[in-house]
Amino acid sequence: MSDCLFCKIIGGEIPSTKVYEDELVFAFRDIAPMAPTHILVVPKAHLDSVDAVTAENSSVVAHIFEVIPRIAREEGLVNGYRVVSNCGADAGQTVKHLHFHILGGKPLAVEMA
Ligand code: 5GP
Ligand code: ZN
Repeated sequence: MSDCLFCKIIGGEIPSTKVYEDELVFAFRDIAPMAPTHILVVPKAHLDSVDAVTAENSSVVAHIFEVIPRIAREEGLVNGYRVVSNCGADAGQTVKHLHFHILGGKPLAVEMA
């Protein structure tokens, strides 16, 4: 996906502040943080959104959810954190490469709408 912002970040074409990387996953700080800690965790293989997850590719999502608590621990999010994935227009997804926001470092607002 040559035109995808997060593919370019994964490839180093666009700079980012890397937090974690392995063969399947890349994590970096959000450019416009909504909380004291705001990290994006993405699969290296392009998927558009949660909507594109299938039985064939869901193992990367399981891996992401193994990585998330490790990142949270390293970031010192001992009081908890939120994991969010916006999927599609109504959710306000702006970058169409599957990503999970890790938000924490303060008590977070609870409203969802
Ligand atoms: P979404 O709105 O799709 O759920 O989340 C996209 C996120 O990507 C937003 O929180 C936005 O701040 C972040 N973002 C957009 N462009 C860049 C960028 O160039 N670098 C980084 N690090 N984050 C970005
Ligand atoms: Zn992509």
